[in-house]
Amino acid sequence: MLNSENLIRIAIDGPGGAGKSTIAKLVAKELSIDYIDTGAMYRAIGLKLSKNNVDIDDEEELIKVLDDTEIDFNKGSVYLDGIDVSDQIRTSEMSMMASNCSKKKLVREKLVSIQREMGMRKSVVMDGRDIGTNVLKDAEIKIFLTAGAEIRAKRRYDELLGKGERPDYDRVLKEIVERDYQDSNRKLNPLEKAADAILLDTSSMSIKEVADCIKGYIEKI
Ligand code: C5P
Repeated sequence: MLNSENLIRIAIDGPGGAGKSTIAKLVAKELSIDYIDTGAMYRAIGLKLSKNNVDIDDEEELIKVLDDTEIDFNKGSVYLDGIDVSDQIRTSEMSMMASNCSKKKLVREKLVSIQREMGMRKSVVMDGRDIGTNVLKDAEIKIFLTAGAEIRAKRRYDELLGKGERPDYDRVLKEIVERDYQDSNRKLNPLEKAADAILLDTSSMSIKEVADCIKGYIEKI
């Protein structure tokens, strides 16, 4: 059932490399609604903290930087304080930086409040780690996308090859396993499936199969 304002909020959570952003973008395009990549927001904060050499345990400094930070999305790009940082945030260093700073209460409070605001008055597809469990608890559709770590690492490896980089598969796999552990075991809003989320293991599914499956759930409501 859609809510009283006829909005549809689709929450897609899962570990890195499960295909969340590819699927979320496809579904958003198909429904002509906004896609919000919450991981990009943690990455942008990570980038800012790293550029400013901020020690994430220094609360006073962290508050100052967070108060002075703006994150926007425009036509698929991510803007940090007005500058397009879409490429800069996609490095393995920024993946880990995002995971490290996402443990911090101050960081989560700031980003979750922006995300809730974004998902309040319009239909959205939002992906991340805590969308179904925390940010949009009352989302009309919740999906938990996952896949084996080796498969996710291979996808990431292929993506890096496609960008002209020369990745090392074992290193990519190690980073994925490390980030999974850190994201699933943190105290605040860890990565976990919401009780009412639909679990989709994409290990042996094509992008089209996953998207069709989600479209089927949407049609039902
Ligand atoms: O999805 P992506 O890999 O870009 O996310 C980067 C990191 O941001 C994750 O590893 C996780 O630590 C953090 N994150 C989070 N909550 C979200 C989205 C991302 O903690 N909703």
